[in-house]
Amino acid sequence: HVERFVSLSRKEVGAIAYSITPINFDGNLEADFFIDGDVMNNDSSYDEKFWDPVLEETGKNCSMVMAKTKKTEFLVSTSQTIAVEQGGKSLNLEASASQSPKKTSLKVQVPIREGEKTVLNKMAVVITSRDHNPEAMAADTEVLLHEASDLGYEKLKEEHLDAWKTKWDESDIVIDGDVSAQQGIRFNIFQLNQTYTGHDSRLNIGPKGFTGEKYGGSTYWDTEAYCLPFYLSSANESVPRNLLLYRYRQLDRAIENANKLGFKNGAALFPMVTMNGEECHNEWEITFEEIHRNGAIAYAIFNYIRHTGDDQYMIDYGLEVLIAISRFWAQRINYSEVRKKYVMLGVTGPNEYENNVNNNWYTNYLAVWTLDYTLENMDRWEAFNPNKLKLLLDKIQFDPDEETPLWKAIVSNMHLPDDTERGILLQQDNYLDKEQILAHQLPPEERPINQNWSWDRILRSCFIKQADVLQGIYFFEDRFNLDEIKRNFDFYEPRTVHESSLSPCVHVVLATKLGMKEKAYELYLRTSRLDLDDYNNEVHEGLHTTSMAGTWLSVVEGFGGMRVKNDRLHFNPVLPESWKSLQFKVHFRGRMIQVSVTQDELEIKAMDGQQFEYFKANEKLVAH
Ligand code: BGC
Repeated sequence: HVERFVSLSRKEVGAIAYSITPINFDGNLEADFFIDGDVMNNDSSYDEKFWDPVLEETGKNCSMVMAKTKKTEFLVSTSQTIAVEQGGKSLNLEASASQSPKKTSLKVQVPIREGEKTVLNKMAVVITSRDHNPEAMAADTEVLLHEASDLGYEKLKEEHLDAWKTKWDESDIVIDGDVSAQQGIRFNIFQLNQTYTGHDSRLNIGPKGFTGEKYGGSTYWDTEAYCLPFYLSSANESVPRNLLLYRYRQLDRAIENANKLGFKNGAALFPMVTMNGEECHNEWEITFEEIHRNGAIAYAIFNYIRHTGDDQYMIDYGLEVLIAISRFWAQRINYSEVRKKYVMLGVTGPNEYENNVNNNWYTNYLAVWTLDYTLENMDRWEAFNPNKLKLLLDKIQFDPDEETPLWKAIVSNMHLPDDTERGILLQQDNYLDKEQILAHQLPPEERPINQNWSWDRILRSCFIKQADVLQGIYFFEDRFNLDEIKRNFDFYEPRTVHESSLSPCVHVVLATKLGMKEKAYELYLRTSRLDLDDYNNEVHEGLHTTSMAGTWLSVVEGFGGMRVKNDRLHFNPVLPESWKSLQFKVHFRGRMIQVSVTQDELEIKAMDGQQFEYFKANEKLVAH
């Protein structure tokens, strides 16, 4: 029996227990506990290894390997201590230790007897020079190892379970009537919580969490667009706030990044992919053109404040980021003399199945919204705390006479492509010139098209990789009436091939809003067990961690119908036929509520027993 865990309560400690009971023999058990730092990474070029050796050490029943990452020069020490128990008692034995570059090993030999349990315990400590003084790392490792082994496996596990219990109390979702949906959502919640705990604003969430090397563990717009809502609802506000602070701390780099591309005056372009604030993507159409990520970062500030009510965040951090992003948009947009409108040329929208398009509706809309929201907040703080605002504006040398009028002109006169005949917003200029085929007309053997078609064919096709216009409608749902949402959904969903795992969830939320229960459930199934059932045969590359947050969105905002509007929570639930009930908790403005939904009832309970006002389908109600 093997049990192992990475402690949730002590971030640098993990433990493994191997229990072995011979059923019908006596014998000799030999175990080699080793740390091998000589690993090969999948995405290394020319077989180059990423680690340089620094130090190997062995002691009584413990050993360590310290190595340094090549470019970033992080020092990482990985260490272990081992113990053996037999028949419930610790054995006093000494492992034979050995070492070679980047490797240490501890070997033990234990006589084992029929029917008697032998437990091999291994505790590991992993620390890095981000958190420890490099000079002190060897000594710190020793202290932590001793602490963990003094505590012992069972106590360590108890602490860990307690920490998980708190997480589950706050973030569990209970679905009655659909076991596979229940298992799917719990698996996802587990992965999200173990990927990001929110204690450190230098950390973020990679699309594959820590489960695979694809995407390099770096941060994408996935965090702001998909993950933030999960952490907003399932943890206290310091957790989502740290996700926002991550970007704030990298603002200088984003300004430098924009500067390299010719933007000036404090304009910021946050990277599409990053580890430390620098852009680390290597395709021009993504790094230079997929600039909508800047908008998602602005939107996350809005989303955070509307959910938590933490207004102070705006003046302390948010506004500085918003102004820098707005400066970028104002310089990236140009005035078209022909159209007599502002336009944005040469971009890639969330739909990466076409590059270098003009006037991607989503990007244009998000840019205008950012400018407007920034102006609105500058006005608010001018009225509320002009001194604080002045300090900020002086710091960033904001010129209200130059910058504000241009922003206002763009807001009131931006080209937002649409097609009046079909009553839809347009993916981009001239999208309708493309041959219009629907995804269901594609022969099954040609799907996914990104594995079967030439890139040139994909780029010319009308197929949309993931929510794009609909991503914008999802973000700004209240600005569109139901007919508009429906027309756009009916037009775009059939042209969407959902070849990003981030795609179905947005469609589920909109489909439930439109009362399209079956469509919503069909799309939900594509996201909820994607990794558990390995639908796409790619789980060996790692899990789709950020899209797991999308599954959460499908359940809470989709079937649970939860929204935040005008400082209140609103609910409009629509459960799939097979679900008897759905239950989840929500952190909202320093309080926690429990939401229980059945096919025909909604019940809200305030966990603190105080009155809690909310809306059910526009009717104001009060819970206790
Ligand atoms: C998607 C991007 C996403 C990235 C990482 C790509 O396939 O198109 O929107 O940011 O994966 O999840």
